[in-house]
Amino acid sequence: MKTQRSKVVIVGMGNVGSTFAFTLMISGVAREIVLIDKNEEHARGECMDLNHGASFVQPVEITSSGYEGCKDADIVVIAAGAKQKPDQTRIDLVQTNAEIFKDIIPKIVKYAKDAIILVVSNPVDILTYVSLKISGFPPNRVLGSGTVLDSSRFRYLISEHCHVDPRNVHAYIIGEHGDTELPVWSHANIGGMVLAKYCPICNSICDYKRELGKIFEEVKNSAYKIIEAKGATYYAIGLALVRIVEAILRDENSVLPVSTLVNDYYEISDVCLSIPSIVNRSGVDKFLRLELSQSEQEQFRHSAETLKGVIREIKL
Ligand code: NAD
Repeated sequence: MKTQRSKVVIVGMGNVGSTFAFTLMISGVAREIVLIDKNEEHARGECMDLNHGASFVQPVEITSSGYEGCKDADIVVIAAGAKQKPDQTRIDLVQTNAEIFKDIIPKIVKYAKDAIILVVSNPVDILTYVSLKISGFPPNRVLGSGTVLDSSRFRYLISEHCHVDPRNVHAYIIGEHGDTELPVWSHANIGGMVLAKYCPICNSICDYKRELGKIFEEVKNSAYKIIEAKGATYYAIGLALVRIVEAILRDENSVLPVSTLVNDYYEISDVCLSIPSIVNRSGVDKFLRLELSQSEQEQFRHSAETLKGVIREIKL
């Protein structure tokens, strides 16, 4: 009998890649995990360390290898490249990381023509677009982690402020994973009740319009604060990546704000950015054409134009 083995390859075994590998191993979602890094010895060390926990988790085969390890991969997750220094924006990384992607993507495609590529490295929207163009894969099979992490930060902060379970807060950050991202307040809700209706009748006494504004600023500046404090962010993104990979491998049709190629939406086309999308075994099945308020439309267009400006500067 042929068994279905789910194989995930991780390229780039730094803070993010190794935390994701550990989280994925614990989750039991993948049957096979392959670790690749330009520093082969480092990947080998991570592989040994993870395998020594094998007796505590569901069966999973973890190996380190060169790009030939991408053969038969279901998903290739790319977390390779430079990360932000305390005084840098994500966009500052574009030239360095685009060059790394020009090197990596053809090597992945050589061995994994049918895989789904999931980009994490920053600036994630630009590198998702770069991966799409270089790979020649259809748009559904190239996605970025986008604002899945930002939306989780957003839901957590709203839940803390409003004293409700974060799983019952439904709220999205869309657009760039970066400085031009925006909150979709018009649809943000707690248990189906939009915040504009929920806040005035909630028992806590707060200046909710001011508080919500502060929450979004906190979301937008989270990465800067964490990098300032400890040099990198990796735990929450590790969990976010497992959530995306799980939605793909288990064909869940989950709604996640991943970075995907957007066309013909509020006059925006040919750019990758985040919008809630249906994620399943085919990758991004479709993005949801949310009805945005006038101000959200303007901010979303600004975010898309900013990203397109950066794309125009890169030589593909
Ligand atoms: P890191 O410096 O700890 O790790 C980067 C790894 O990439 C290193 O192990 C390095 O050897 C490897 N690498 C570099 N060039 C390579 C190449 N050509 N081929 C293979 N491997 C290569 O960085 P990190 O903290 O793990 O962050 C990785 C990336 O993820 C950064 O770009 C960071 O900004 C991004 N990031 C994204 C999110 C998100 O939400 N999308 C969150 C956190 C970090």
